[in-house]
This record gives sequence, C-alpha cells and structure tokens, in this order.
Amino acid sequence: THSTRPQRLLSAVQKNATRGDPSSVVKAIDQFCRQKEWAMNVGDEKGCILDLVVSEVNPTFVLELGTYCGYSTVRIARLLPPHAKVITLEFNPDFAAIAHQVIAWAGLEDKVHLIVGASGDWIPKMKEQFGLNSFDLVFLDHWKDRYLPDTKLMEECGLLRQGSILLADNVICPGAPDYLDYVRRSSQYESQYFKSHLEYTKVEDGLEKSIFLG
Ligand code: SAM
Ligand code: MG
Repeated sequence: THSTRPQRLLSAVQKNATRGDPSSVVKAIDQFCRQKEWAMNVGDEKGCILDLVVSEVNPTFVLELGTYCGYSTVRIARLLPPHAKVITLEFNPDFAAIAHQVIAWAGLEDKVHLIVGASGDWIPKMKEQFGLNSFDLVFLDHWKDRYLPDTKLMEECGLLRQGSILLADNVICPGAPDYLDYVRRSSQYESQYFKSHLEYTKVEDGLEKSIFLG
C-alpha cells in the first residue's frame, strides 16, 4: 500500500485502543512500534520517566516542542490536573493531522492546543496568543539542533520562571551536545540526567531534566 507510517500508527490506534481511554492509546502505539514498525515516539521506557516528571511538577501550562503523532502529548495530557493545558508544536502538517486524530481518540482534545507551525516562529507569540505568563514544564523533543536556540528564545521571551522545568529527550541518541553543555554549565540551571534507552531499542539514551533558577 501507499500509506505512511503515521497513518498506519493511527489505524493501529483505531483498531486496538478504546475511545476516550488514553492509556489504551499509549499501549496500542507502543505495541505497534515494538511489533510492527519503529517510530520516533518517546516510547514506553522513557515515557515512564516523563510521567514521573509530569506528576511531580503537576503543571498548569506545558509546552511540548515536536508532536509527531501525539504519543507524548497523550501521555502528558492524561496526567494533567483539571484546567491545565498542553500546547504542542508540530511543523509538519501531515504529522499534525494524525496527532489531532490520536489526541481526539484518547478524548483529550480539551486539554491540548495543537499548533501547526515552527518553534522559532511560535515561541515569541506564545504570551499574547495564550495569555499566559510562563510554562511550568517544557518537553523538548523536536529536531535536536533546535534545543539550544529555542531554550535561549524562551528565556528571552520570558516564558521561563524561577522553577520552570525543561525536560529534553534524546540527549544521548541522536544527542544534543551543545544543549547539554549549556544546561550543565550554566549557573541559571540545575540539571540532572535520567539514563534510559532509545525508544523501542536497547541503545543508550536518556532525558535531561533542568530546573531554571532564574
Ligand atoms: N514528542 C513526540 C513523541 O514522543 O510522541 C515525538 C516528536 S518527533 C521525535 C519530532 C517532531 O518534531 C517531528 O514530527 C518534527 O516534524 C517536529 N519538528 C522538528 N523541528 C520542529 C520545529 N522547529 N518546530 C516544530 N516542529 C518541529
Ligand atoms: Mg524523542
């Protein structure tokens, strides 16, 4: 067939997950990626670390950079308290269209604002578009060479407050060395590595959690 991987991932969700049950959506995607086709979701193993951080921060406003098919969006949104929101950015309209349907299948559309656009264009517009002061949690999982410039842009735009948490995926594989150097050396951050594995593999990868000290 001529379907794309994201379309096949969505079909697996529609076939195997229960509408309105986010955990069944997460499970259906993990099963598809372990048994059928690898895909660049944060995955089940690092996903558990993501869940722990989301639960610990108990955020009101989450920014996610890089939606892809909405796997991590669903993981995050399902753990949010009432009235909290995740704003997620995806610049590929085909991926965003799939994510939209995955998020709706999970019944989480009220908790998610999916923006089809590039991080560099949208970060400066966040405050006026959403009337928010700062993000409590930012999940960085877009192209790895954008982690550092977008972090500096968020700082400049005043989107980080004292205590805001940055959680960055794939800091080892594919890796974001300039970003890691920055958050580990800067006195403005307190940073910690969570060792894990690249999604659906045994290759080392991990998440870096960095507290913005202001
Ligand atoms: N967070 C997702 C998950 O775990 O389910 C996976 C995201 S995937 C690794 C990265 C996505 O970021 C891709 O879909 C890509 O199109 C998108 N992307 C890359 N650079 C971007 C940018 N500067 N702005 C918006 N989206 C971007
Ligand atoms: Mg990732």
